[in-house]
Amino acid sequence: MQQTLSIIKPDAVKKGVIGKILDRFESNGLRIAAMKKIQLSTEDAKAFYAVHKDRPFYGELVEFMTSGPVVVSILEGENAVAKNRELMGATNPKEAAPGTIRADFADSIDANAVHGSDSLENATIEIAFFFSNREIL
Ligand code: GDP
Repeated sequence: MQQTLSIIKPDAVKKGVIGKILDRFESNGLRIAAMKKIQLSTEDAKAFYAVHKDRPFYGELVEFMTSGPVVVSILEGENAVAKNRELMGATNPKEAAPGTIRADFADSIDANAVHGSDSLENATIEIAFFFSNREIL
């Protein structure tokens, strides 16, 4: 059993597809162990994406992630990290496999609908970034 962090990004929240995206998780064996809708501050987004701070798109990424509310959740299940990445599809929605969340709901490489932890180690760090133990049920 694993836990992973998911973020429904501002583009998908604005489109009104929170429910449709959560359904993908629940219909594919991922239980929602915690969830909240929040507005990230610039400081939050910079800290969360600190690993990308030297990438040319860092500024745009921080700006985009603070452009509106996001829905952060913890998904739990067997192989949750890999399962979530599979359901999300490739980073660039133009390369995402048909039927994946990004293929169906994302417009561009920056406005790509969802974030998902890329390893178990990062999942632990990202979960602790957003949630306290008493919010995880
Ligand atoms: P992910 O794990 O599939 O989300 O992809 P990465 O960890 O490589 O990148 C993190 C996030 O940065 C992506 O989800 C995109 O929102 C954004 N990103 C990645 N590449 C680019 C790019 O070339 N341009 C812009 N504007 N954003 C990018």
